Amino acid sequence: MSAASPAADGAMESVESFVARAEAWLPDHLPLADTTRMENGFGSDEEELANVARMRATQRTLYDAGFAGICFPAEYGGLGLTLAHQKAFDEVSAPYDMPTLINIPTFVPCGAVLLEFGTEEQKRRHIPAMLRGEELWMQFLSEPSGGSDVAGAMTTAVRDGDEWVVNGSKVWTTGAWWSDYGLCLLRTNWEVPKHRGLSVFIIKIRQPDIEVQRIEMINGSREFCQEFMTDLRISDRDRVGDVDDGWTVGRRWMFHERIAMGGGSPYTSGKPPSHGAGATGRDHLLELARETGQLDDPLALDLVGEARTLRRAASELSARVGEGIVAGAMPDTAAAIGRLMSGVVNERIRTIGADLAGSSVVAWADDDPAALFGVEFLMRQSGSIAGGTLEMARNNISERVLGMPRERTLDKDVPFRDVPKGPPAAGGETR
Ligand SMILES: Cc1cc2nc3c(=O)[nH]c(=O)nc-3n(C[C@H](O)[C@H](O)[C@H](O)COP(=O)(O)OP(=O)(O)OC[C@H]3O[C@@H](n4cnc5c(N)ncnc54)[C@H](O)[C@@H]3O)c2cc1C
Repeated sequence: MSAASPAADGAMESVESFVARAEAWLPDHLPLADTTRMENGFGSDEEELANVARMRATQRTLYDAGFAGICFPAEYGGLGLTLAHQKAFDEVSAPYDMPTLINIPTFVPCGAVLLEFGTEEQKRRHIPAMLRGEELWMQFLSEPSGGSDVAGAMTTAVRDGDEWVVNGSKVWTTGAWWSDYGLCLLRTNWEVPKHRGLSVFIIKIRQPDIEVQRIEMINGSREFCQEFMTDLRISDRDRVGDVDDGWTVGRRWMFHERIAMGGGSPYTSGKPPSHGAGATGRDHLLELARETGQLDDPLALDLVGEARTLRRAASELSARVGEGIVAGAMPDTAAAIGRLMSGVVNERIRTIGADLAGSSVVAWADDDPAALFGVEFLMRQSGSIAGGTLEMARNNISERVLGMPRERTLDKDVPFRDVPKGPPAAGGETR
């Protein structure tokens, strides 16, 4: 039987009652989080697939118990509760092994975009399946020719009756090899300026006309993928939003992504075990200082304190920005503030981890308490690139929040067919 039991009179359950039920349920149904475990892509393929299967199963357990999709509407399988319910649940579920892998990008931005722009049929087909852990989604935005200039997409869909024929390549797609669907931004019109010739589609990833190749990163992870689509046919019923109006969808898509990266989205559920990756979590830094005999060293304690302060400041800032946007006191574009802060903080905390670990970041024995910190240091900048670079976030803040002059663009009113292509990416509307 579901643990969810809305108030008998049909009124919304109070936050206190919801949290009390969650507190009673969690210890018996979810294991505690393993805070030493590295995020995706570090084990063998078998280990990664097992991890993904575990996440799906846990998501299903949450769904069956009435703790999934807290802020998703009830008609699409969610609970239709408020951000306050979600935030309270995040707190009580923090010690447990929550399937946070599914948060970004399945629930946000993909689920959030479907909620806003999907047809009724698309929402009913996909959102409950996401909430049950049956469908994992990825973002097909970046292309080999450029990631920041999202509107410069050149992977093309050409209409053929009720279908579209897609050719081209998307890249840097995290986890595409084990995912089910991609939300994909495609060029559907070359005769108009770049922002007016895009459309968004739902793409089923595992099928013959998509070849998914893996890319190995500097830390050995192979979560990144590049997809090659050759004469891939998509039904028009899988189009999200209007033809050639994909930029309207795309801008909200990037808003949802930014706000989730800053930690302020209502659609994510549960907190990852640490800010950023496993090894640099708060307790790990203190633990590392202890295990390496630095607890009496004021400099080391300063670093631990700095990491805690930064994490707290980032969390408070994203909460404030999130509330400001929801209340209409801040523009949606302010989501870039939380995204900028989280990127800066993540990078700094990983550097602090490396400073505390000392020479162990370059060479370690298997039982070295600092073993993970070197690997994390190699990846310290990834959070400042993924989801749009920090430079783009700064551009967005200066131009769209502070109202400073816009970056000069050379392709604004030019049909995309006539815009010179190739690196470096042209400026303009950016991720
Ligand atoms: C961990 C990780 C996960 C990712 N996952 C995904 C995913 O799942 N799906 C997906 O589609 N993509 C994904 N990406 C790709 C990511 O979105 C792009 O790498 C990012 O948008 C930057 O694009 P780029 O790499 O082409 O760099 P470029 O756009 O070529 O930028 C290179 C540099 O120039 C700067 N720059 C470019 N234009 C401007 C400008 N106008 N003003 C100021 N500076 C500028 C950039 O900020 C950057 O420093 C991921 C990336 C990472 C690191």
